[in-house]
Amino acid sequence: IKRVPLRIGQVLQEILPMIRNEALMYNVTVLYYPKPELLPILADKELLKQVFLNLGKNAIEAMVGGGTLIIRECSHPDEPNKIAVEICDTGTGIEADVLEKVFDPFFTTKSQGTGLGLSVCQRIVHDLGGSIEVSSDVEGTQFTVCLSYASGEL
Ligand code: ADP
Ligand code: MG
Repeated sequence: IKRVPLRIGQVLQEILPMIRNEALMYNVTVLYYPKPELLPILADKELLKQVFLNLGKNAIEAMVGGGTLIIRECSHPDEPNKIAVEICDTGTGIEADVLEKVFDPFFTTKSQGTGLGLSVCQRIVHDLGGSIEVSSDVEGTQFTVCLSYASGEL
């Protein structure tokens, strides 16, 4: 993977039209909270777009009948050389027994699902030196992607 310095906001801006379009069909409200003061990260733009499109699509698909999708950029709460992007939905949530399998290739609970989205997301994020985590309860689900600042590795 060729990693170059880029701003996370630029990556998210490029996929937001697609996310908003998908959200319309599900009656989902999309809230995007950029943090323009975040420094550039070291990543591959097209691969990161794949990651956040997959996460956004899953979130929307979990909100049959409507809901709210929040996409938030943050500085990492504990690690000063990292950013975090949170993708939160008010969907069905994920049961504990399902939660431990969501990153497995071909694991899906959808009739038309491939089960490949999250395994691909995880591989890309790990290849970029980052991390991806999920937490879920009856209120909904949150995926958090952490990535390092470019300056931290130069
Ligand atoms: P697919 O979307 O094709 O099913 P994924 O790898 O993208 O495959 O997701 C795997 C499974 O993880 C989904 O089938 C679903 O059960 C669960 N999942 C992923 N994201 C969410 C979410 N935001 N809310 C609820 N369940 C989710
Ligand atoms: Mg998916």
